[in-house]
Amino acid sequence: MSDFYKPERYLLRTLDPVHVGTGGNRLGRVDLSIVREPGTRLPKIPGTALHGAIRQYAAIRYEKLQCVGSGQSKDPDKEHCKEPQCPICYTFGYLKGQDGGQSGKVSIGDARLLLFPVYSLAGPIWVSCPSVLAEFDIDSTITDNKVKGTIGKEHLNLGWLMLEKEDGTFNLPDHVPPAIKGRAVLVSDKLFSQIVNSNLEVRTSVSIDPETGAAADKALFTYEAIPRAAILWLNVIEDDFSGKFPQEHEMAAKLKHERPLDVVIAGLKLAEMLGVGGMGTRGFGRVRLLNGESQQ
Ligand SMILES: [Zn+2]
Repeated sequence: MSDFYKPERYLLRTLDPVHVGTGGNRLGRVDLSIVREPGTRLPKIPGTALHGAIRQYAAIRYEKLQCVGSGQSKDPDKEHCKEPQCPICYTFGYLKGQDGGQSGKVSIGDARLLLFPVYSLAGPIWVSCPSVLAEFDIDSTITDNKVKGTIGKEHLNLGWLMLEKEDGTFNLPDHVPPAIKGRAVLVSDKLFSQIVNSNLEVRTSVSIDPETGAAADKALFTYEAIPRAAILWLNVIEDDFSGKFPQEHEMAAKLKHERPLDVVIAGLKLAEMLGVGGMGTRGFGRVRLLNGESQQ
């Protein structure tokens, strides 16, 4: 694979529940469900949501707030700066205007589940499954309705589900924190989806009527979220044939950014404070990058 087209893989740990809503799939004001993989029904953070957040946070880091967002505006002062020397516009691109558009140099994939935290009578555990590990080129096998791992003796009791242990071990990707590695278990793909969907965080909240400041009538609503302490992974592909990243830009030089991927990482790192997805004002959305340094 050429040097210009190299996917980098990052692991994230949720520090808060994360809610990225489906938007179109709401039932009135109730049941704000989260985005899922169509085939497996596993929740994920879509790359589009991550791209928006990462661009915004990178622009904050660079103090280039003008270059946040889609750049679509009739007001020229609110458009992206579109300067080839702007690391934000160079990395993420800008829309076609009078002077032509420029595509971004990075594509940001969906953040998908790697390890999902659940309660068990033996303490908290993190669950994964063979199809997820296969994405990391890790082979693993497990019989349906059984569980593999070092936690528990002959059975593992999830409170609502009793699983028989199967002998054997399995590997996990690098960068999974040791504390989580030591409490990780493997279940079948089918069971993984069931366990995840039965253990998503569901909260009930109330809408506030902006005029009265009190709870609005019939305003109770529930929403789902990926819980705290889940491990997710995503691919970021840098596609920079021109190789003209403006390293000499003052802030890029200060931050030692040499390529578009460095800008993406800077944005991802700020998601640890600023969060991704919805309900940020309710304490949702912070994620921590677990392998921040470019792996080369
Ligand atoms: Zn710009």
